[in-house]
Amino acid sequence: MHINVHYAIGVIIASISHFFLQINLFEFFMIIFCAFIIDFDVFFSKYAKDHNHRNLLTHSIWPGIIVLILGIAIFNLLLILCGITLLIHVVFDTFDWGTNLFYTGKTIGLKLLITSEDMKNMDEILSKYKVAHSFFVFRYYNNKFCKILEILVFILMILLNLFLASEFWYFFIIYFFFLSVHMYEYKKLKQIENS
Ligand SMILES: [Zn+2]
Repeated sequence: MHINVHYAIGVIIASISHFFLQINLFEFFMIIFCAFIIDFDVFFSKYAKDHNHRNLLTHSIWPGIIVLILGIAIFNLLLILCGITLLIHVVFDTFDWGTNLFYTGKTIGLKLLITSEDMKNMDEILSKYKVAHSFFVFRYYNNKFCKILEILVFILMILLNLFLASEFWYFFIIYFFFLSVHMYEYKKLKQIENS
């Protein structure tokens, strides 16, 4: 899913954690940070199979599992929550395009945005676009599941942030930064493809 969705999920987990476990500002921030940080592996895409950052070790379950086990081993609540948050990120990424979940080289997930037929004809599909990336962005925003999930997660984030963690209410504002990055990208690609 897009980074704004992961950010919103981070706010949701942090808000619930704050309500039940009274976590502090640093812990609140760290949970949200773990929810979206692995998407910055996109800057290392050139090292990934097919230049797809979802194939990197960072997009497998292993970083989350290691942090979770470490947290349990040393009885550290924050590490446990961060481990769970990292795992939730990769699970959500199995819904749209799938991810190299077990780092076995196999893309796993519901993969709602791509069929095996698409995979076989990928070169042909991408050749229809002026910029190959347009295909991925348009497929995402034309998909009902992605749109509904984006809206649901957004509403939940606002409600839970304001009602369960009102002292940290300002965290939801950063969501709009991540959303605007994707909206700008979408608009730009639309302009290029329509020109
Ligand atoms: Zn991701």
